[in-house]
Parts: sequence; structure tokens; C-alpha cells
Amino acid sequence: MKTKINTVLYQSKSLFSGIVFVLLFVSSAYSQQPKHINPWTSKELGKLPPVASLTDGVWLKGDLHVHSSHSTDGPNAGPDRHPVAKILAFAKSVGFGFIAITDHDNHVTGDVEHHTWADPDFKSDSLLLLYGAEMTTTRGHGNVFSAKPYNHQKLYDVRDQRDTVIGSVKKKLGIHWSANHPAGPKDHFGFSFDLVNSMEVWNSALWTKNINSNLIWEDMLASGRKITGRGGSDAHSPGELNYIGTPTTWVFAKNRSAQAVVDALTNGRVSVSANPYAPRVDFFADVDADGKMDMMMGDNVKSTGKPVKFRVQLSGNLLPDSTYTVNVIKDGREFGSYQLSSKNPDAEFSDTPQIRERMYYRLTVEGPATNYPQVPRSMAITGRMVALSNPIYFNFDPNF
Ligand SMILES: [Zn+2]
Ligand SMILES: [Zn+2]
Repeated sequence: MKTKINTVLYQSKSLFSGIVFVLLFVSSAYSQQPKHINPWTSKELGKLPPVASLTDGVWLKGDLHVHSSHSTDGPNAGPDRHPVAKILAFAKSVGFGFIAITDHDNHVTGDVEHHTWADPDFKSDSLLLLYGAEMTTTRGHGNVFSAKPYNHQKLYDVRDQRDTVIGSVKKKLGIHWSANHPAGPKDHFGFSFDLVNSMEVWNSALWTKNINSNLIWEDMLASGRKITGRGGSDAHSPGELNYIGTPTTWVFAKNRSAQAVVDALTNGRVSVSANPYAPRVDFFADVDADGKMDMMMGDNVKSTGKPVKFRVQLSGNLLPDSTYTVNVIKDGREFGSYQLSSKNPDAEFSDTPQIRERMYYRLTVEGPATNYPQVPRSMAITGRMVALSNPIYFNFDPNF
């Protein structure tokens, strides 16, 4: 009897180890499978970088996409010629604080004659000049923004290589790279958006051509990429429909320096307006319910699960007796809208960003066009689009 029990015990033991073995085998095979990562899965983040001051800084406006006569696709003769001196004088006349002349790759292959930065007129006592260029490739165009000269040839040399190669060169050069007119139509941005710090969500006065770019931006934000939206006129020569300032990009810079402008662009403390005289939209949030705003667009904090008070504000020239509609977009969907005017230029609303869930809120503003006498026909093609903000972010992973 004892022997029989032992045999049964022995058999069940070996059956048990067999099952364990099979289970281990199956689980190890399973763990080698790549796991699907739901981009919306809530995640406990470590400490996020502190939010920068909302008051120590200066709002500066400018244009981030302008071509001079040094660009090979611009007019080199006649009244449409677009020399650097003319661009800078115009930018100054509309009150700009900065400008990026982004000519097409003429800094490379020893073409010193057509080198924007080597132009004796490339200097200003009032404007911050960014060092930039529009990298022009088979897969689209991207603007470089830098506070100091950089070796554009190094970037240009790898323009058609794999994105990982371009990414490592970009990192070594320490530059801000930005996707231009990402939805084309002929020259859409065909690179990974992981390579860029910002994207041109408003190219030229013709607003309708930017609708698809805004859809791409929304996808990038929804997937966890914190990418700044910015404007650029892409002006090649003076024109009545589109010229410098259509649209105008505003940045909240820590100080009046080219580096602070680039940093603000990288950090998303940026809004875009139809022209230099159109109202600017500001966006703030009070996350700790102390009655004081403690973050603005571009900023990213961990949500506490408590209600947050948001403030939308229009500043600058609001046309009298006119109504502006501010649309709040939360995670790509319409969340609410507010009617503002010169008498009531701000509004507040509350919402409770869920704890650990990634979320963002951004604004678009529609209303009457502000007159831009220097570019008199631009208002007609911009339509009712007045301004847009960058998002206020919750729980975005900086190490994504
Ligand atoms: Zn381009
Ligand atoms: Zn261009």
C-alpha cells in the first residue's frame, strides 16, 4: 500500500513539474513578444521640471520663415528683389523683436557669395536675429533656428540619410529643428516628427492650407509628443496677399536674447496671430487653487486630481464692438467656447485633469480680421482665423 501511495505521489510530482515546465516555457516565450503600449495608458511620472516664472520675461513677436534674395528660389532682380536690409527694415517697422531669415541651404558647398549670414546687412541694433536656414530635401523642408552660427553643411550632408543619422547630427549641433508646411501639398514633411522641436502649424496668410498640418499636430500631441506649434509667412518677396508677419509668432522669452527666443520656441511658450497688429491669445492655469495663475501655454505639470482653473485672455488691439470666439480644444476635441470682446477680453473655466492621465488643452480664436495696411489683401485669405495658442499640458512624460 505504501509503495502504491509513493508511486502515485511520484507520478503526481512529475506531472506537476511537467505542467510547471510548460507554463514557464509558455510565459518566457510570451515575455519575448513585444508588448503593445497603449499611448493613453496612465503612468506614474517622476518629478517634472519646475514651471518657469510667468512674469520674469518678455513677449516678443516675429516671423520664423522668411526668404531673402540669397534664396535660390527668390527673385534676384527687379522690384521684387528681397535683400536682407529690406527685410530687417520692414520687420522693425511692424514692431518685431526677432526674425529668422531662413534661406534655402545657401550656406553650404562653399557658396559664400550667397550666404545670408555673411551679408554685411545681416545685423541689427533692435532686432534679435536668429541663425537659420530652410533645409531643403527630397523628403520635405525643415527650418533650423539657432542663437549662434552652426555648421549647416554637416546637417545638409545627411539630409537624405536615415532619420537616426540626422537625429544624431542634429543633437551634436545643438540646434532647434522645425517641420515646415508639414502637410505640403508638394513638399510635405516626410521625416519622423521625433526629429523636430516645433512644427509650422500656420504657414502664410492662407489659413485653409494649414488645416491638414493642424491635424498632424493634433496626432503628434495625442501620441505624447510635446511639439511646439509656430507660424511662418514663407515670404519670398513683398506681396499684398502674403508677406512678413502673415502670420506673426509670439514668444514669451526669459529675456531679450536670441537664445531665450529659441528656448521659448522649444518650450512652447508660443502663440500665433494672423498679423503683427492682430490680438494675441494668452492661456494660463491655476493648478493649486490659490487664486494665482501658475502655468501658461507650453508648461507641463502632474495633475493632482483637483479642479484646475484656466484663464484665456486676448491682449493687444481688439476691435471695438466686435466679438471674438475662443475655442477650447481638449485632447483634440472641442471642449467649450467663449465670446470675448474689447470690454471682456478674458474668460475663466474649470476642469479636472485626471490623475496620471496625459491631457492637453489648447485654444483657437476666430473673429474679425485686423487691418494690416502693409499687406492689404492678406485679411481676405486669412478669413476669420485670428490666433492660436500652444497647449497647456498635464502628465506629459519628458522622457517619452
Ligand atoms: Zn519650404
Ligand atoms: Zn520657405
